[in-house]
Amino acid sequence: MPTPLIAGNWKMNTTVQEAALLAGHLRGSLGGVTSVEVVLCPPFVSLAEVARAVQGSAIKVGAQNMHHEDKGAFTGEVSPLMLLGLCQYVILGHSERRRDFAETDAVVNRKVHKALASGLRPILCVGELLADRQAGREEAVVTASLKASLEGVTSPDGLVVAYEPVWAIGTGLAATPQQAQAMCALVRRLLAGQFGREQASALRVLYGGSVTPANIQELASQPDIDGGLVGGASLNAAQFADIVRTTVSVRP
Ligand code: PEP
Repeated sequence: MPTPLIAGNWKMNTTVQEAALLAGHLRGSLGGVTSVEVVLCPPFVSLAEVARAVQGSAIKVGAQNMHHEDKGAFTGEVSPLMLLGLCQYVILGHSERRRDFAETDAVVNRKVHKALASGLRPILCVGELLADRQAGREEAVVTASLKASLEGVTSPDGLVVAYEPVWAIGTGLAATPQQAQAMCALVRRLLAGQFGREQASALRVLYGGSVTPANIQELASQPDIDGGLVGGASLNAAQFADIVRTTVSVRP
């Protein structure tokens, strides 16, 4: 069983000062936790400060996005070369980027290839819209998205997949543990189909969408859920620490 992972996606929140303060608090409460991997994903401008704040602890750092080229005329973008040395992980294909910045599976696929080749561990997000679920096509949508996002990938070492139903993100309406387990099991079957059973069981599959201290216990107890991608609750040091500690107790 892989080491569970709890990642905090701070989205477009926190100034540099606030990010350093939050990271410092979390280092104090979670810096020694090793049975669950903890990853903080602040905005780009705070990566260096957060990396400094957690240096020497078990806490890792992640970016929230990256470009698929190393350098060039891409105004406003951040490349993998720039992230190396600042963080170990990078969230790719988050639904907010797909929705607001027109990121397609094809673009996400280029980013996944680039991250893996660069030595960054992608946290690849996939998930269905509410309309998809209401129409009963959540499995088909997630299958197509995951396959397209991972097309051509043969060495997935370091890859993490986060199943994030779009209707659960920031809504307070988390998937039930049964719904989340069913979809994470589907993700794992798809990973097994592409990379083999042994490799698939070593990769982390996370659930994301309104994870809180109140629901993490049941979610993290599911056999195919190896942790969570946490948005809103990751901005509260006490709540995030609670989520991590509960995961430690569920998956010691
Ligand atoms: C997210 O941003 O990936 C997320 C899951 O957000 P929230 O926990 O706020 O639903």
